[in-house]
Amino acid sequence: MFQSLLNQFCVISFINEFSEEPVHLGFGVRLLTDDLYRLRSHYLPLGKVGGKPAWLNPKHLPKSADLLCSVCEKPMCFLMQVCANGGESDPPHAFHRTLFLFVCRNPECSRQNDASNLKAFRCQLPRTNDFYSFDGPADPEFGDIPDPYALADGPGLCRICGCAAAKKCAKCTVARYCSQAHQVIDWPTHKLECAKAAENGSIEEEPKNPLNPFVFKEFGIEIDQEYMPGGLFDGMSDDEDDNEEDGADVDDEPEEEKAARLKEFEKFVKENKGKNVDMTKDDLDAATAEQPKDLDFEKFNKLVHLHPDQIVRYKRFGLPLRATGQSELPEEIEPCELCGAPRRFEMQLMPHLLTLIDVDCIGQSIDWASVYVYTCSASCRIPDDGYAKEFVAKQDFV
Ligand SMILES: [Zn+2]
Ligand SMILES: [Zn+2]
Ligand SMILES: [Zn+2]
Ligand SMILES: [Zn+2]
Repeated sequence: MFQSLLNQFCVISFINEFSEEPVHLGFGVRLLTDDLYRLRSHYLPLGKVGGKPAWLNPKHLPKSADLLCSVCEKPMCFLMQVCANGGESDPPHAFHRTLFLFVCRNPECSRQNDASNLKAFRCQLPRTNDFYSFDGPADPEFGDIPDPYALADGPGLCRICGCAAAKKCAKCTVARYCSQAHQVIDWPTHKLECAKAAENGSIEEEPKNPLNPFVFKEFGIEIDQEYMPGGLFDGMSDDEDDNEEDGADVDDEPEEEKAARLKEFEKFVKENKGKNVDMTKDDLDAATAEQPKDLDFEKFNKLVHLHPDQIVRYKRFGLPLRATGQSELPEEIEPCELCGAPRRFEMQLMPHLLTLIDVDCIGQSIDWASVYVYTCSASCRIPDDGYAKEFVAKQDFV
């Protein structure tokens, strides 16, 4: 189970859209509390969901202002990260490459087909850097691994969300926070230790798995190739609409639906009384017939059913798997603000991730059919080897 987590460097290989390479799927892996340390930056985890971010560059973190929800302007919550370097195809400054996703926890900020409540960041480091060994992290079973945060002497981290903390508790000046909102969340816990912290100038080590009501449940991520049996999409076309399988034949129409259509017809006739409307039963059938089939949705469903636990689909420079044909994905993706190179599709988040992080309360929680992440195709160098915001789109099931 830890094989992928223990690989020296991440295993997602460079894939171009013309290759027959399969899609890589990510799955959530629950770790024992004692093993959660494997998801810390020290070990360059392949990926993780929830908890606090395992920053790749521990020194130049995104600013608090960059992590505010575009809808409510409150701090977003770390959602997941995936290590995704392109091996030899990426430039040397991107030997390590990780994508980070954040989401606003407020369900009201989750709007249909609008990704304003989500943000994605790309971070890269060359193989020789100030924080990690040239040969990658040693097996955590053996020996100490230097703490990249200590090496970085970077900004303090917020005790609640694990992001850059520019604020301190005024009483002890030890506890650090990204925002007043997070200080408020921490106060019931922190007030018990604040006086002692002021005296000692430090706070005792946090427990291994500091749970607080803000962060999502924490999981590791395993990556596997998607296996797709031949003929999966056989018989999927509009022509199939009238065959016996789907019962769309008018004669097989359920009584309730028939009644509803009749009612619709009567309403139409009533509304158009006196107007010169020449409507036949056939016109009615055409007007009130079922919506055309959503082939994108069917294809999406078929692929999801093969591996229902998938939380991420990864195919750099590939094509996204559209969740539905009822809404459009943006045709024009803004080019990279840093270098001007076009952004290309890299990965998408799947609905099962919502279940994993316990926000699958339909209509009352964060929601998506799929979240699509597009990144700079050049993996261009980021100032200070920090974090570059990338492009996110979202589709919802209507
Ligand atoms: Zn929000
Ligand atoms: Zn915070
Ligand atoms: Zn304090
Ligand atoms: Zn770029």
